[in-house]
Order: sequence, then C-alpha cells, then structure tokens
Amino acid sequence: MSQKLTPPRLRDDCFAMPQGVSWVPVDDALARLRSVMVPLTDKVLLHPANALGAVLAVDAVAMRSNPPRANSAVDGYGFAHAATGQGVQTLPLLEGAAAAGQPFAGAVPPGSAIRILTGAILPAGVDTIVLEEDCAINATHVAFDGPVKVRANARAAGEDMAQGGIALRAGHRLRAPDLALMSALNIAELQVFRPLRVGVLSTGDEIIAAAGQPAEPHQIYDANRPMLLSLVKGWGYVPVDLGHVRDDESEIAARLDSANVDVILTSGGASAGDEDHVSRLLRTRGTLSSWRIAVKPGRPLALALWNGVPVFGLPGNPVAALVCAAIFARPSLSLMSGAGWVEPLVMTVPAAFSKSKKPGRREYLRARLVDGRAEVFASEGSGRISSLAWADGLVELPDEACKVSSGTPVRFLPYAGLGIF
Ligand code: AMP
Ligand code: MG
Repeated sequence: MSQKLTPPRLRDDCFAMPQGVSWVPVDDALARLRSVMVPLTDKVLLHPANALGAVLAVDAVAMRSNPPRANSAVDGYGFAHAATGQGVQTLPLLEGAAAAGQPFAGAVPPGSAIRILTGAILPAGVDTIVLEEDCAINATHVAFDGPVKVRANARAAGEDMAQGGIALRAGHRLRAPDLALMSALNIAELQVFRPLRVGVLSTGDEIIAAAGQPAEPHQIYDANRPMLLSLVKGWGYVPVDLGHVRDDESEIAARLDSANVDVILTSGGASAGDEDHVSRLLRTRGTLSSWRIAVKPGRPLALALWNGVPVFGLPGNPVAALVCAAIFARPSLSLMSGAGWVEPLVMTVPAAFSKSKKPGRREYLRARLVDGRAEVFASEGSGRISSLAWADGLVELPDEACKVSSGTPVRFLPYAGLGIF
C-alpha cells in the first residue's frame, strides 16, 4: 500500500495516568483508552469482493431494489387472483413457462395459468402462485382448491430493500452476509476507511524468529508474533510483520522508526525490570505510560506514542499477550479503524469448576464450554501456551473477591466474540 499514512494525532500525555494511581482497574483502563484513541479518516473505494473486514465510511445506499422485480418464491402455477374463487379451480395452462433468468414474454389472461419456477419474474397478468404440490395437472389444465390467498407465494419488487434505501450505516464492519447484501443491491463501490495497518514486533534475546530455524536450549521460538499477526488479520486489519529484535534499545528504536503503520503491538520487555528494554526505550524516547492494570494474567501494559503512533507494549508471556490484546488492544484498534469501540460478547453460563478468588484484580481464565458449562484449564500458569489452544474462550472473574463452585453463574467470553479464530 503506497498511500501516505496519516497517523491519528494524540496528545503526548494522552496515556498518562493520574499521579498516585498504583493499580488501574480494568474498566478504568478501558475507559481511558476509549477516550484517547482517535479514528482514522482516510477513505478508499473497495469492491465488495475485496471488502471483508473493512469499515464503511459512509452509509451504503441501495443502487437497485431487491428483488428488482416481483418474482415467484416457489415452483408452481401462476395466475391472476381476481379470476379465481371458492372450491376446485380448473384453469387452462398456457404453453411455455417462466423460469429464473428466462422470463415469459407474453401476458397471462385472467382465468388462465402458467407454469412458473422459483425466482422467475411474474409474467404480466400473474399476481398469485399455487405450489406445484397442491396442484393436479394434465397436458392442458391445472386444478387446485380455492380460495387461494391473493399474492400467495409471490415476492414483491423491493420487498427486501428498495433502491435508494440505506442498507448499512457508516461505521459498520463488513462481514460475509453484508457482502451478499452489497452485491445484491449492486453497490459496486464501497467507501470504506483505509484498513488500519497494525505492526507486530517481538523482542527478546531468547527468541528465535520462526519455527523451523535451529535453536539452542536457551532459546525459544517466537509464539507471540504469529498469534498477534493472525489476531490482527482476523480483526479485519492489515498485519505488518515487524519481525523480531534482540533486547537492544537502538535496534528496537530503528525497527519502530522504520515501521510504516498506524499502530504497533510489541510483546516482551514491557515490565519495569533491567531487561525490559521496550519500556525503557519508550520511557526515554517515546511518551511511555506504564499501566499497572489490575488484571491477571497481564502485568504492566506499556502504552506510548512513538513518532505519534500508538504503541501497545504487551507482556511477553503468550497467555498474557493474548488476554491483553483481546481485552485492551482489540477495542482500541476498532475505535481507530472507524468501527467504534467494541465490547466483548459475554455469555453467562454455569461453572464446571471451583475457585476462590481474592479481591483487587480481574482474572481471565482459559476456558471452554462443555455441555453448556464452563470448564477451565487445569493449570493457571501463564507459560502454558497449550492452554490457549485448548480453550474456546475466557472466563472473566470480577475485580472483587468471589467464590465459584460447580453451577455458579460465570461470565464466558467466547473466542469468536473476541475475534479470535
Ligand atoms: P518478558 O515480558 O520479556 O519479560 O517475557 C516474559 C516471558 O515471556 C518470558 O518467559 C519470555 O521468554 C516469554 N516471551 C517473550 N516474548 C515471547 C514470544 N514472542 N514468544 C514466546 N514467548 C515469549
Ligand atoms: Mg524479554
């Protein structure tokens, strides 16, 4: 993509948390992100064939009615209702038929009938159709029981959507069914926001950039980057692979500088320790705010502007990286993309586990539904990457203390509702 990027202009201190705040509740962190993120404004035209995941920048207006003409909803026999009545109706059949894509050229006189198939536009003179299963026919006539309801089995022109009507509103993210509607209404040019370009960078001296490369015992393969790039794609954005860099501030800085993106997700090095080079760099060269969010798994989430581009410094642990991406980055990116803030889909289901939780932080457990009840992964260890693959969603436990036992209603956030596929 060669368009000039116009990153949203955020104030340098936009991510600053009030003095003295130590642990930020999840809802406060979300409210803060919601208030500071700015939507993109660049627009592009896309054909529906290429528009999956794009966000409408203006209302989509029907260029054609659906259906464009009255047509038959069934296979059967069509006629003018006014010429029929009570009791057995026996009508002479015209020669020929009306089929989808093969309209009947002539008119059907009152008192006559014509063979008509599903999707065929109604010939002149026809307003009502009787299902073929309800008819007896021979070579010349069709018979059925009257009375028949007027306009039975007929679809009116424009009954679904009339030309000129608003089919979808600005801000709507296009899904597969929406593309069916856009195509049916002959909307060949969709004005959408330029898809958000999201850079993904992994950091860490121990990380090997990709599976398949040789690794020493002290090295591990990059699990976060393929996960985050795929999340970004599933959310409808353009994933931009910024690769992996060692824990070296100048290398990290060079990589951030060269990124041609609207927003960056990094993972690793985001805490406040000696080896946390991302947060150190962002503190000295960017405008870092380290948010100690009261969430498990999570640890600090580093938020900063780098040359005006928002950076989400996600934790290195894959479990924490996924939870922070899904809970904090997803709604923020949605807002940036023009689709507005999004809330996760929450189902309240009975628990199939027991747990006693202390107050002071929200917890997300890797979970899945079995017979409508939420099971959680046996280990809460945040290094358990297999638990992410085992799960179908997250159980969200409240900030407050709580005691869960078998049957307790809990909040279940399906992966699909978080855009995790
Ligand atoms: P950090 O946040 O850099 O302290 O990393 C926390 C943990 O996550 C450490 O065990 C790292 O080795 C691990 N980690 C960091 N980045 C990745 C990654 N991209 N893939 C897999 N594990 C990672
Ligand atoms: Mg690290």
